[in-house]
Amino acid sequence: MSACPCPARFYSHAIHHLGNRFDMTHSDDIQARFFAMLHQRTGALAAGDSISEPLVSASMYHLPDQPAPDRVYGRVANPTVQAAEARLATLEDAATLLFPSGMAAYGAVVMALLRAGDKVLLPSDGYYAARNLMDQVMAPFGVQTDTCTAAEMADIALDGYKLVIIETPTNPHLDIIDIAALAARCHAAGALLAVDNTVCTPLLQQPLDHGADIIIASDTKAAAGHSDVLMGHVSCRDAAIMERIHAVRSLAGAIPGPFESWLLLRGLETLDVRLERMCRNAESLVPLFQAQPLIKSVIYPAASHPQMSRPGFLIGVTFADRSAGERFIKAAQFVPATSFGGIHSSADRRERWGDAVPGGFLRLSIGCEPTKQLTDAVTSGLATL
Ligand code: PLP
Repeated sequence: MSACPCPARFYSHAIHHLGNRFDMTHSDDIQARFFAMLHQRTGALAAGDSISEPLVSASMYHLPDQPAPDRVYGRVANPTVQAAEARLATLEDAATLLFPSGMAAYGAVVMALLRAGDKVLLPSDGYYAARNLMDQVMAPFGVQTDTCTAAEMADIALDGYKLVIIETPTNPHLDIIDIAALAARCHAAGALLAVDNTVCTPLLQQPLDHGADIIIASDTKAAAGHSDVLMGHVSCRDAAIMERIHAVRSLAGAIPGPFESWLLLRGLETLDVRLERMCRNAESLVPLFQAQPLIKSVIYPAASHPQMSRPGFLIGVTFADRSAGERFIKAAQFVPATSFGGIHSSADRRERWGDAVPGGFLRLSIGCEPTKQLTDAVTSGLATL
């Protein structure tokens, strides 16, 4: 099945029959979850307790008599890891397990759910490491992986699949897949649907509320948000599935460290304000790119997409060629980096990693800089074209 074609100029995603599933009530709901998450610790403090979450570094616990199954050993559970999980569980409104990276979260899901002979479907134009995990690690165990483009997900036959894993928006093309429609088709075919929600975070999109079974996320990006930690999580409302994923985590040893979990927890507390600035900055920059005649295409998810509360902070921009893209990165003072979701605006020329995109295609991750200064920097960058 083919890779995604080059984006058309000023392409904005079509919205396919989604209806108005994201309404004000749901948006209020998410803010209520965020409020509860922020106050999760403070509600139960005694005089003199720290407002911030304590960082507990422990491999051993005091275990007199017959110990309860929880918190017996650091590989099974840790109070700081559990505190960060509890915050995410509130945001996702679902049981949540943390992993030391987004890929560790993917690994746990596929190890927990797939057996020899099972078939899994992934986007051919999504994050490449997810496909490599299936091809290089799971295929030797007899798991078969098929791929199709994000666009083809809308009508590909799903019979025979045990699991479908998607991203929306996809990375790097920012294509959007209708989660509710795909979830209904997956369930009719007897498949589970897992959604990689890295790009949106629980604040911009709630895949479980649209019918997905499992969320996989790299919290390395906007969720932690400071470019200083790797982390991932899985959320799911099915207790039996979470039990299997927890068993994989404990037995394969993929529990994150308490300090990294603490950094994530701290990042989560400012996620709302960071996203607000990042999205606002992105919304101000899109017209500047669109107005520059030497730019071949600008991809930004449609503002009114009902599945997402906002179009987000990633913009795909195709410059004339590789050197024009590189000139822009330097002159606009974007950080040249892979990954995204940090407080500094950054740019990644995705062709260098083998993505099926033109040499001048940049995935821009818009950061938290003051809007006017960032706009000025981008205007200077565009002037160098
Ligand atoms: N999912 C998406 C959409 C990503 O972009 C990435 C990393 O770039 C991952 C998952 C993997 O996350 P991590 O690097 O935390 O393992």
